[in-house]
Formats: sequence, structure tokens, C-alpha cells
Amino acid sequence: LDLHTHFSSTYAVARQRFCDAARRAGARGFSRRHPTETGLEGEALTIDAAWLGPAEAPVVVLSLSGTHGPEGYAGSAAQTAWLTLEGKASLPRGVAMLFVHAVNPWGFSFGLRVNEQQVDLNRNAMDFTRPLPPSPIVAQYLALRDDDHGDREAAIAAERAARDALKREHGAWAVHDALSRGQYEFPDAPGFGGRAEQWSLQALRSLLQELCSQARHIAYIDWHTLIEKRDGEFVFLCFNEPQGALFERAGGWWGREAIDPATVDAQWAADPALGSARPSRNGLLMWGVQHWLAPHCDVAGAVVEFCRDPVVDRSLSPEARAVDSRRVFAALRRGATPPPGARERLLEASCPSRTDWRQRAVEAALQLYRRTLEGARAWAAEDIAARPGRLVRSAGFGAGFAEAREPA
Ligand SMILES: [Zn+2]
Repeated sequence: LDLHTHFSSTYAVARQRFCDAARRAGARGFSRRHPTETGLEGEALTIDAAWLGPAEAPVVVLSLSGTHGPEGYAGSAAQTAWLTLEGKASLPRGVAMLFVHAVNPWGFSFGLRVNEQQVDLNRNAMDFTRPLPPSPIVAQYLALRDDDHGDREAAIAAERAARDALKREHGAWAVHDALSRGQYEFPDAPGFGGRAEQWSLQALRSLLQELCSQARHIAYIDWHTLIEKRDGEFVFLCFNEPQGALFERAGGWWGREAIDPATVDAQWAADPALGSARPSRNGLLMWGVQHWLAPHCDVAGAVVEFCRDPVVDRSLSPEARAVDSRRVFAALRRGATPPPGARERLLEASCPSRTDWRQRAVEAALQLYRRTLEGARAWAAEDIAARPGRLVRSAGFGAGFAEAREPA
């Protein structure tokens, strides 16, 4: 089977193919159109959803793509392949499948992780009525960063020099943590989580509250890319409380070892782009979904990262990615043409064009859907009430699942 053919190279095509596959599979379709933005080719930007299975199913497998823009090309391929090749016949009793396509359609279209407000949507599920955590290292990073270089290579070198200076002062983990955990002060620095709930989260919340009002349990898969490990493998970032019942349940589907915090720390340490251990997180979408659906429904699952072989592809360093992303974003906001090649580099870094990578990624995704559906079948058969447990908005993973300290 030519599974790699489920990949698309533009948002408009990916959206069309997802919606066609959903219709052919007999899914109910839902769509939320972005109120102000259009895409690369002037196309409408929408979050599309497809529901397959009984409306009153107690267990819903919720699979999201494109929370981080171009990472969605792989998630979209996985969703479209499942709708085309598996579909209704593979749904167990008591289980529905809900696909949400392109959580960040603007970034999906333009090749950027962030949305049109420069917000990382997977850091945006905060309670914005409460004080937000401060980010002193990010302030220092912005002061150090010399962004005046016209030349891309010089800008990358300056970006690296700023990060290296901070690492000498604070240590590598602290810098990586500060630039990735989610910050709420500096739109032009990495990890900006916004100052208000974004349109995508509002749209997603209204969809989930409408469609999952009868659900008791959600099996959550938020497709992301791309960690350097091996083609066809995954890294599981389970954001349930470790050792909690929901964490153990996700471990039952995907392997206890695979979701173990020690495993994830080791995977993080092995990828030179990621730093020495798993960082803290603020405002994750999965935590938002838990808040929205509690107390009638609980959520078990993970961000699932597609991996690729680090030897085969040339990687885009975090510094190069930061420079390319910033320049594309700045050009788009001025109404100018982005620097040539930048979108292509960012797409390749999120979704390799190699046919064998694509083939193995979809193969592995279909297997993961099967395992998750088997777990969902068992969950439905248990016929138990939701037990959402402790709900958080922020957590540090170094000490297990310590809730991040609230600002003074
Ligand atoms: Zn991601």
C-alpha cells in the first residue's frame, strides 16, 4: 500500500483530502472558519472535525493535527489514511472517533509553528484571569539577541551566541526550559503562549463541549513532529499525572516503558536539539481539554511525536529554525514576501519529504490507532464513571509532576 500518498504539500490540499476522506467514510463533518485570516494561496482557514461512530459513545478517541502548524502535515496524513483505510468497520462497540484537523490552520498554511498572533497554541491553555509566570531568562535572551543581521548565516550565529552566553550562566537545561516551557511576556521570543485564549482554543472548546457532552472518557492523541530517533517510531509525552490511573491507562495502550518519564528524559537527552532532560510546561492543550470536559469526562493520552532517523536527513538547528520562523512571521505581518526557501526549510524540518519516512510514519500511525481503539474498547466495556483527578495548567517534570510554582 502506498501509504505515503496521504501526505499533502499545502494546507488547502490537506484540508480538501481530509474532508473528502471524512465524507466518504460516512463521518459527520464540522467546520469552524477563522474570522479574519486567510492562507498562503488566499484560501479560507478552518478547523475541520470529523465524527465517526455513535453520538452517545461513552469513549471517544480524539485525534488532533496541526497544533504546531506544519507539524500537522504528518498528523493530517495519519488521519486521512485512517479514514480511508480503516474507518467505521474498525470502531469497537461504545467507541467513537473524533478527528480535529489543523488546530492552527494559519501556521499549517504558512509553515509556522505559531499562529497569526505569534502564539504557540500548545502553551495557550492558561487561566488568563490569574497572574502568569515570569520569564527572567527570556528577558535576558531578548536583550542579548542581536537581530540586525541581514545575512541569514550571521543571524544564526548571533542567535547561537546569545543562547550560549545564557547557557554558560544558567546551564543548558535552564535555558532550554525557559525558551520552550511557555512564556507570556514576549511575543517575539520562543514559547510565547499569548495573553488571552486564542481563536483556535475557543473553536476547539466549543466543538468538544458540543460533541463530547455524552462522553465519559477521551483517549487523546495530539500528533506532533519531529524528534530525532528512528523512522516509524514515536515519542510519547503523556501529560497525565505519572502513576495516576489515567497515566497507567495510557501506558496500557502504548507501553508503560514508552511513556515512562525516565524514558522520555533519555529520549530528550539523545536529541541535540532538545537539551538534557524534559522541560517544564505551561498551558498545554491537553490540560485545557481536561478542564473543559471535567467533571463528566476524563482524558488520558499524550502528545505523540513522529520521529525520524537523525542520520538520514540534514536537520535544521534550533537556532536556524528560530531565525527562519521569525523572519517569515515578520515578513507576513508586514505584508511582504517571506525570505526565499524559509518556508520550505521549515516544512522539511517538520515533515520530511522522503517517501520511505512517510510510508513508515503512516504505517506506525495506523498501528497506534489500532492499539488505542483496542484500549478504548476495554475502557468502554468497564462501564465506569469519569475520574478526572487533579487538573493542572502548569507542571515541571524534573520532580515527577510538580505543579509549577504560582508567581508571587
Ligand atoms: Zn509540536
